[in-house]
Amino acid sequence: MTVRAYRHIERRLSRKIRVGSVEVGGDAPISVQTMTNTQTPDIAGTLDQIRRAAEAGVDIVRVSCPDEDSTAALRQIVRESPVPIVADIHFHYRRAIEAAEAGAACLRINPGNIGAASRVREVVKAARDHGCSIRIGVNAGSLERDLLERFGEPCPEAMVESALNHIRILEDNDFFETKISVKASDVFLAVAAYQGLAEACDYPLHLGITEAGGLRAGTVKSAVGLGMLLWAGIGDTVRVSLSADPVEEVKVGYDILKSLGLRRRGVTIVSCPSCARQRFQVIDTVTRLEDRLSHITVPISLSVIGCVVNGPGEARETEIGVTGGGGHHLVYINGSPDHKVDDDRLVDHIVELVEARAAAIAAGDTTMTTLKRTVAAGS
Ligand code: SF4
Repeated sequence: MTVRAYRHIERRLSRKIRVGSVEVGGDAPISVQTMTNTQTPDIAGTLDQIRRAAEAGVDIVRVSCPDEDSTAALRQIVRESPVPIVADIHFHYRRAIEAAEAGAACLRINPGNIGAASRVREVVKAARDHGCSIRIGVNAGSLERDLLERFGEPCPEAMVESALNHIRILEDNDFFETKISVKASDVFLAVAAYQGLAEACDYPLHLGITEAGGLRAGTVKSAVGLGMLLWAGIGDTVRVSLSADPVEEVKVGYDILKSLGLRRRGVTIVSCPSCARQRFQVIDTVTRLEDRLSHITVPISLSVIGCVVNGPGEARETEIGVTGGGGHHLVYINGSPDHKVDDDRLVDHIVELVEARAAAIAAGDTTMTTLKRTVAAGS
């Protein structure tokens, strides 16, 4: 019997494709994407944004290629990028061919928008010749006119039909390395469209709530929409669309996946909201810890709880825990009370413990021995 069966998510069985070195679909980890918002011909600025996103853990980055200057810049961007690049094309078939030749790992283009069948064939040939996959991106705001006339307004059925029409064009050209999105800024519409598409095909799905808004509202909206789908096992790669720094999109993408146990990366902090019972400044402590531990990439759980009401219980579930006591706070290692730390050393001490734990895990040591040595050395 599965332990804690209520946490189990049965992922939809999708076919696996590749975006460069990253597998998408099947049993591959759900990947996190973002998109640059620099001018693509600004190669240094674009690469800087890609590198910052990569440091935050991004798996794949999309770069807009609206003109020839952009596809010309793409070659160097692809060469120097630490992660695979998706070229965002939309309409112009020549840009798609140039992007494929420049080394893009994936083309974001809707074959139904390219025009003549001969142009579709040329784009598919370029994708195949250069090992690119293709992302079909249906958006509620830009559905084909005939579908809008037939359905009256953007609706899940129209979005699914649009996606299937684009898929069919690629399949007619013997191309199957495809992933698909059916995005809308309306959570209900996006979720219903993805549910319909998940039933209608086995291609990997790229999830997103488009134009979700600014950092706070967009995060909440994306978490609600993506959360429903991911919890139901739908989704193979995610992009959180925020009017904010792409690095924030990556962090939010991970946090959504971490909340559902679908990816683990870096320090997951369980912390209480604090109240009059707190024995140290919880909010300030957590803010400082988040900042000082942002470089940790190996998965580690940490609980920071202001008093004994919930501290011991949460500490039992985390690798490192701290519970507020009068000036001397109790530190838990692997769920058990271990030692005390003075108030003025609290943040430095937790950082030392987490860094020691991260280094040990990175070196293949899954025991807590190194941590005990760190405590002994510091005491
Ligand atoms: S754990 Fe203690 S300090 Fe934190 S919110 Fe609960 S009662 Fe307040």
